[in-house]
Amino acid sequence: MTKNKTYIDGSFIDGTSGVTLTSINPATGEAIAEVEENSISDVERAIAAAKRSFYKDRTWRDMDAQSRGDVLLKIADLIEENLEEIAKTESMDNGKPLREAEADVDDAVHCFRYYAGLIRAPHEGVYEVNGNFGTMHTYEVREPVGVCALITPWNFPFLMGVWKLAPALAAGNSVIFKPSSETVLSILKLFELFDQAGLPKGVVNLVIGPGGKIGNLLAESKDIDMVTFTGSTAVGQSIMRAAAGNVKKIGLELGGKSPNVIFADTDLESAVEWAMMGIFFNQGEVCCAGSRIIIEKSMKDAFVKRFAERAEKMTIGNPLENPDMGPLVSKKHMEDVLAYIEAGKAEGATLVCGGERYTEGGCADGYFIRPTIFDNCTSDMKIVREEIFGPVVTIQTFETEEEAIELANDTDYGLAGAVFTNDVTRAMRVIKEIRAGITWINCYNPSFTEAPWGGYKMSGIGRELGSHGLEEYQEIKQINLNLTPGAPGWYEN
Ligand code: NAD
Repeated sequence: MTKNKTYIDGSFIDGTSGVTLTSINPATGEAIAEVEENSISDVERAIAAAKRSFYKDRTWRDMDAQSRGDVLLKIADLIEENLEEIAKTESMDNGKPLREAEADVDDAVHCFRYYAGLIRAPHEGVYEVNGNFGTMHTYEVREPVGVCALITPWNFPFLMGVWKLAPALAAGNSVIFKPSSETVLSILKLFELFDQAGLPKGVVNLVIGPGGKIGNLLAESKDIDMVTFTGSTAVGQSIMRAAAGNVKKIGLELGGKSPNVIFADTDLESAVEWAMMGIFFNQGEVCCAGSRIIIEKSMKDAFVKRFAERAEKMTIGNPLENPDMGPLVSKKHMEDVLAYIEAGKAEGATLVCGGERYTEGGCADGYFIRPTIFDNCTSDMKIVREEIFGPVVTIQTFETEEEAIELANDTDYGLAGAVFTNDVTRAMRVIKEIRAGITWINCYNPSFTEAPWGGYKMSGIGRELGSHGLEEYQEIKQINLNLTPGAPGWYEN
């Protein structure tokens, strides 16, 4: 079995907690790798190393943007050279079909290249201003925030990491990275590539261990200037509280329960295909999943019939063999999703298809669940209100546009949403009313490195990706240069 090491202050080290973390292949239930978890004192060492690299050594922070960009380009090249190995590791560790893991790693390459380019682009302004003190120049300059803690979930382990690491590093910060314990393997590989790329000592540090202990320590530490987190809303709230101690900058990418609103004038086949992409992609373990289908009543029966036919035809199996769906990430998570399915049945929703574990064709020891559709759902049901994070979708109907919007917004979350209609005026009207940060018209799920990503309401604070994603990791300073000779003359007496 592969034995891995974490990475602190430029060295690969075994964690000193005395606890061994075993990575499990969710398709088979077999152990595939081990790593020694980090102790509190390891994490303190990582924080001290990041602090020293930012505040004392300063090599990375003071490097001109062009040279820093060159290092990021080298990292992108190294990821590209290792794409197949990283994608296979990710697929085995997380359960996502190999082609989806390959797409994630490919996106990660582009993310590093994008921020390598963006950091070179001029984005600092100079204004001539006139006020009570005469003419001045105001310079707006961007500086790195400092020592940043980055904490990520298990559903897109590599890509969610890169969405934070690439802009944080581009901006010149030093980082301590904590991945989810469920899926550490692809990130361990990334830190090997960081080491090869020659980042200065202490700029990137990897710590592994339980969120409640290590993640919380990072969120609380007064030596950390910023914490950015992707994960559940409940943990996001606890991070906000912990970060209050030294008023850290925070970035939160949290959960969702996103509406997919379908009007009857839309093409049935394409709405069905996008709805499948919306909920069954990555086994439904997607923050922006279209888990609530809200469909015009006159189209509902035809839609549900076709949707169920297509869902039942989906192939399920070993993710390395590229089925439509792989296993869920862990036994515990599979059990949580099955419990939601039981709750849906108990609350009176109509189970149209799926609703159980999949154990055929060598899948008996893995954590597979059939694609599951619940019809006749109401807004008070647990399966409609809570994020299930699996291949489970609910169906509700509407008769008027106002009703559709009301149902769509009847949620604490505000991450994503979609509308399907052939009426472009209505599409724009409805999408503007949906209180969510990421929205689609006549499609579901496409996302782009260049475009901002983040939620309204309880789905988060701040934006990743695009130019906003870089700004999250920058402080903005104004420098006022006096161009008027002499003193202000306010205190002559
Ligand atoms: P999670 O909140 O359980 O864990 C996320 C990370 O936080 C892990 O690294 C975990 O170890 C750590 N953690 C746990 N407790 C902590 C604490 N008290 N203090 C600090 N860190 C702690 O989430 P998960 O189960 O890994 O991921 C699923 C969730 O992530 C879903 O809610 C999903 O919607 C969300 N997510 C959101 C986005 C987005 O962009 N908005 C993207 C992916 C996933």
